[in-house]
Amino acid sequence: MYSRAAMSELAARLDAVRARIRAATEAAGRRAEDVRLIAVTKAQPAAVVREAYALGLRDFGENYVQELEAKAEELGDLPELRWHVIGHLQRNKVKLAVRHAAALHTVDSPRLSAELGRRAAEAPIPEPRRFPIGAQAPDGRLPVLIEVNVGGEKQKGGCTPDELGSVIAAVQGAPALRLAGLMTVPPHTADASQAQPFFESLAALREQHGGADVLPELSMGMTHDLEAAVAAGATLVRVGTAIFGPRGRAPR
Ligand SMILES: *Cc1c(COP(=O)(O)O)cnc(C)c1O
Repeated sequence: MYSRAAMSELAARLDAVRARIRAATEAAGRRAEDVRLIAVTKAQPAAVVREAYALGLRDFGENYVQELEAKAEELGDLPELRWHVIGHLQRNKVKLAVRHAAALHTVDSPRLSAELGRRAAEAPIPEPRRFPIGAQAPDGRLPVLIEVNVGGEKQKGGCTPDELGSVIAAVQGAPALRLAGLMTVPPHTADASQAQPFFESLAALREQHGGADVLPELSMGMTHDLEAAVAAGATLVRVGTAIFGPRGRAPR
């Protein structure tokens, strides 16, 4: 168990993040409930995830599938907990990812989509673990978002904007997958407002590929730049440090 002091610190940090999201939606003329928070728990122990769940959080993001697996086993008693895979996904980890994920944010090739579609058809995930897309209820398919490398950075995952159409078609062609939207991680900039053009690029790509009917969710914005992402239309923000503090500890 966490101490009462640590718990109230977590509660205070979470309140502050929720206040930032509210202020950002207000400034953008959007509704607060149109932006959902995914708490990023990489390098945080399962006990911390449990405390965050007790504070009402339900959606948690993990970068590494093995770390996700360890925490999912430890937290299997939390019925509404949903895991989001937000890190680069290797094809040899797809089977494990599909076993636990409520949604995947990092599909970036037709090949990865095909492998996911195959594994998701073999092992449907249990109902309460699926993530509802926008206002739509879960329907048995695995929600996936396509990661786009809008900054064109060599070391980053994500398809290029030119490849996006083929990845969309691959996901749409997989009966066990549900196309949920787009995701990006912009280049790091000292001033978070400089990230906004990258977020706007992702929003523009959505418009070019059928708009919100086809791609309901935009997963973008982290601790440093969530305001800029919300201003550009984010519906899912992925926040770690602002909720849990710096990631000093080694992952378990
Ligand atoms: C680590 C990570 C986050 C959270 O970053 P913070 O700066 O701690 O909020 C969000 N998205 C991805 C893809 C990440 O790897």
